[in-house]
Amino acid sequence: MNIVISVLCLFLFFSCSNNPRTKNAERNKNKTDSLNTFKKNIPDKLQKLLASYPGHLDSADENHLYWKDGTVMIYDDGIKNKSHDKKLDNPDIEDMLAQNYVKGEKWEIPPPENFEPGRIRYEPFFLKMYGNNSAEVQSRLVNVKWTDGSSVKFSNVNGASDSLEKVIEELKKLPPEFDKYLVNPGGTFVWRNIAETSRLSNHSFGTAIDINTKFTDYWQWSKNLKYVNRIPMEIVNIFEKHGFIWGGKWYHYDTMHFEYRPELL
Ligand SMILES: [Zn+2]
Repeated sequence: MNIVISVLCLFLFFSCSNNPRTKNAERNKNKTDSLNTFKKNIPDKLQKLLASYPGHLDSADENHLYWKDGTVMIYDDGIKNKSHDKKLDNPDIEDMLAQNYVKGEKWEIPPPENFEPGRIRYEPFFLKMYGNNSAEVQSRLVNVKWTDGSSVKFSNVNGASDSLEKVIEELKKLPPEFDKYLVNPGGTFVWRNIAETSRLSNHSFGTAIDINTKFTDYWQWSKNLKYVNRIPMEIVNIFEKHGFIWGGKWYHYDTMHFEYRPELL
């Protein structure tokens, strides 16, 4: 009898532990737990970056950005105490996203020293996104009809040109006194370095537009870097609404310059 009970117990034990339903439930729980831990560890700004370029970026973990084509980029290079100049010349993605762009009218005027969200750019990110060289970028440019009827070239990657078209639609609804800031735009695509640096301008990627230079101010034109701006906020607000940051909110200001950077807005 004892033997029969023992055999029965053993049978019950094995049939229970081998129950596929129990095993699957256990496996699914582990999977959910690790997914939650994984999500929790992704820095907020990296999550924002992911959400802003859904066609190209796949996922992230606590220190890596994974592209859909298999490219992996490091978020934090681990180099501490970089000066602002060092961050401009040799940033990582963390440096690029560190300063918070203030949308709308409540930004600090003049901008505090070296406060210029968006001016620090991790170049490999833009080369990968928009094109590795002038020809590659140009193959992704489309013609967009500017407010004055002229044609400007803009990248169609990640919806940049569609966003510019939305901006234009709204700019055209502004009263006629705003026209003078918009006619004869300073330009969009040019594969070039930023003046006096070895860094590529965002114009190289076909994702920046300079409006009429006649009413704009640039820090390099000023002797003492005293902040000046003549561009009305009505224009800035429209650009920001559609994913563009404005160079007029930078310490090293560039008030003609608008750049498609949805991850900062
Ligand atoms: Zn510009």
